[in-house]
Amino acid sequence: MTIDGVMGSPVNIFIFLILLFAPVQEDAYKVQREQMVEQQIKRRGISDKAVLNAMRSVQRHLFVPPSIAAEAYSDGALPIGHKQTISQPYMVAYMTQVIRPKPDMKVLEIGTGSGYQAAVLAEIVKQVYTIEIVPEHGRAAAARLKQLGYENVEVKIGDGYAGWTKHAPFDAIVVTAGAESVPPPLFEQLKEGGRMVIPVGPVYSTQTLKLIEKKKGKAVTRNLMPVVFVPFTREGQR
Ligand code: SAH
Repeated sequence: MTIDGVMGSPVNIFIFLILLFAPVQEDAYKVQREQMVEQQIKRRGISDKAVLNAMRSVQRHLFVPPSIAAEAYSDGALPIGHKQTISQPYMVAYMTQVIRPKPDMKVLEIGTGSGYQAAVLAEIVKQVYTIEIVPEHGRAAAARLKQLGYENVEVKIGDGYAGWTKHAPFDAIVVTAGAESVPPPLFEQLKEGGRMVIPVGPVYSTQTLKLIEKKKGKAVTRNLMPVVFVPFTREGQR
């Protein structure tokens, strides 16, 4: 085949066009992220600068299946496969703000899913540990986070009910699946003065997002808002 033949083949023209327009597409997503932050997140009262910046930085379109990348910045949860969802951007921002994230913190997340919430946390805090019960999601999220350069996130596949004793205690715990009650090991693994945010309620019904603070070893609980999360499952239940 001649050089001209290679250059002019339909496949190469296609690749050339993708390379040509990729930066344009990235800019379009950046604009969408800014709109998401302004219209969905700031407008609803999220004001923590670090949280807003993290929401501006993390490329949410890379955490959803490619077929729905165009919807990545819309105002809702999206399906990510295996009956699971990536939470609504506002909910991710809200849960991140409520734990009062600081650069020196070590945070545990239960329910890695796509890895998006972990990435948002990782933009702000020193270290994120995250546990996912669906192996396919855990593996995909770990690979994605690594590829995107998030070196301060460690993913474990397993039942998050037991927490992660090896790295405990945690400054904060973010649970992104609806539990029937607060798993005692998670409360135990929370530092004194630490904060846990967790949706609690019966399976397949609305849950209440709760903020639990550990004060003198006791749980001080505040109900935040009604929410709908996918269920917190236990090993052997799936
Ligand atoms: N935080 C995710 C979305 C979470 S959806 C994101 O940003 O994309 C809830 C996730 O919790 C699902 O992936 C589900 O498989 C997982 N999950 C449910 N029960 C769990 C458990 N006991 N331990 C760990 N992960 C669990």
